[in-house]
Amino acid sequence: MKGLLLVISGPSGVGKTSLVKKFLEEFKSEVIFSISCTTRKPRPGEVHGKDYFFVDQKTFEKMIEKDELLEWANVHGNYYGTLKSFVYENLLKGKSVLLDIDPHGAFQIKQKIRDSVLIFILPPSWDELKKRLQKRKSESESEIQKRLRRAREEIKFCKDYDYLIVNDRLEKAYEVLKSIYIAEKRKTCRFLNNLENEIKDPYLISLIRSEE
Ligand code: 5GP
Repeated sequence: MKGLLLVISGPSGVGKTSLVKKFLEEFKSEVIFSISCTTRKPRPGEVHGKDYFFVDQKTFEKMIEKDELLEWANVHGNYYGTLKSFVYENLLKGKSVLLDIDPHGAFQIKQKIRDSVLIFILPPSWDELKKRLQKRKSESESEIQKRLRRAREEIKFCKDYDYLIVNDRLEKAYEVLKSIYIAEKRKTCRFLNNLENEIKDPYLISLIRSEE
């Protein structure tokens, strides 16, 4: 695959959305965000086709049946899934694709696309995670408790990710995320897959590609 598949996970409230937004803004010419499908209701301000494709349960189940999803999971009682065609089309074109998905989805991706890069975002402390969730004010108290219970489970999966980032301060966490991306793109096998985009000199390319 020519493009790099980046998978970001982390408990609800950890600040994934802000990190991802900043990252996509800086790398908009080369990284594309995979918009997931979900049966969850839109939050105030969320836009269909931008934040998610909001679909009903029947539609989602049809997509599973037709094998249109690269991965899917039931999170907080709602279905979430990644569109297979979107991811493959962009990776084949040489674009990097970024997924913000839960650990069950992340491991399904790693099984299917071995050179995907899995990054888990951790909060600096449990108390801070609670505070961030409460500050968000978009969920009821019982919803917050549900998300904290899930966070407790999700954090245990972080050991199987390729990279861990602690989101204490957004700026610092962002620098780490950026460094990971830049380094991963320069791994020899990936660089060689994209050689013509990286180096314009045909003679240098022929030297690099030569078998002798
Ligand atoms: P939220 O409802 O806060 O937008 O997302 C809840 C959780 O669902 C987050 O952990 C998010 O990473 C995960 N999620 C979002 N889209 C997908 C997806 O397509 N697949 C999977 N497996 N998880 C997703």
